[in-house]
Amino acid sequence: MMTRQEIRELAAFQADESKGAYALSFYFQPDPPQDRSHRHDAIVAKDVVKQALKNANGKAKNGWLHADLDRVLELASRLPGHTRGRAVFACSAHNLWREFDLPPRLGSTGIYVQPRLQLKPLAMLMGAQPDLCVTVVDRQRARFFDLRLDELRERGAIVHMLSRSGAKYGYHGYEAGHAERRISEEALQHFKAVSERLRMDLERGLWQRLVVGCHSSNWPEFEPHLHPYVRERLVGRFSADVASVSDEEIRKHADALTKKWIEERGRKKAEEAIDLAKANGRGVTGLRRVLRALETGEVQSLFLADNYSARAVECTHCGHLDAHIVSACVACGRKTRELNDVCDAIIPIAIRSDIELFYVTQHSELDRAGNIAALLRFRADQNRTGQLAAAS
Ligand SMILES: [Zn+2]
Repeated sequence: MMTRQEIRELAAFQADESKGAYALSFYFQPDPPQDRSHRHDAIVAKDVVKQALKNANGKAKNGWLHADLDRVLELASRLPGHTRGRAVFACSAHNLWREFDLPPRLGSTGIYVQPRLQLKPLAMLMGAQPDLCVTVVDRQRARFFDLRLDELRERGAIVHMLSRSGAKYGYHGYEAGHAERRISEEALQHFKAVSERLRMDLERGLWQRLVVGCHSSNWPEFEPHLHPYVRERLVGRFSADVASVSDEEIRKHADALTKKWIEERGRKKAEEAIDLAKANGRGVTGLRRVLRALETGEVQSLFLADNYSARAVECTHCGHLDAHIVSACVACGRKTRELNDVCDAIIPIAIRSDIELFYVTQHSELDRAGNIAALLRFRADQNRTGQLAAAS
């Protein structure tokens, strides 16, 4: 499993261009299952790497890049039949080689040779992905899972054996009714115990958002027992039977619910950021202002149109980013280098600073606002109690 710490390390990586070093990023997107017999995906992967090798002939002064590309080509030849997505990050000049299995939702197979690692496909997968807890529950059992990307791990279970059914208590109505009440009471205690476990695990930082799998008939019994903190972290519920539900079903339902939740959340928060920007509050829009907010550490959530790209310059000395194409850094006066896509610099900053990163599709307000916006934790240029309170 790819951890957040590993991703942060990748985001911090920068190849030393002055020594002719390049960072190589390779993403493999497998064909959907029904097309897999053609092995088209593996052929595409090899072609992509071979093309990069050709392009590298003019580019690299030394053998590092070629060695990395040869190794990726060798890896690509082992890909036929691979059903997961795969990512490779390499720079032998800096002893970097990392391989990861990923969910097969990378868009397309591609290879990137640039000073930094290309992390957009990763950011699109994980940028706003919460640490998810899935609990599957009925009146006497509960199972707890962690879902990170599409890796599902069972963390624990609670089983309360219910008393024998009412029928065993004989024919007398009183006894049968009594037994039924006892079973309800036991189920209630069980739901309380499950809720308590969820609350404790949340407080221990084991998860950030929750998906519940249970029968519709059990949900009205269980839901009222959820602690308010837990309930406000609920992403959604799906119908499931504790005894028979498969890992694949859990993943599928939790994935679909989370994807929808992230999309809605991204749209809503982007709107909020744009409104707050108009009110001169805790939001900014447009590349220039977003870059400034990133540098002052104000950004909490970042919103990009999914096809957003813009040119910018980056200072080779202090790292200052500028939307104006200037040759000397306004912060320190040293030489800048041009970035074809400012996202190559923005995404690593977002990852390193734990900024929630949303890719938003077809959002007309974001489009009008320059296709980039941010929600701020605070505004460095305002006193927090005064103008901010007035603005919000
Ligand atoms: Zn500078």
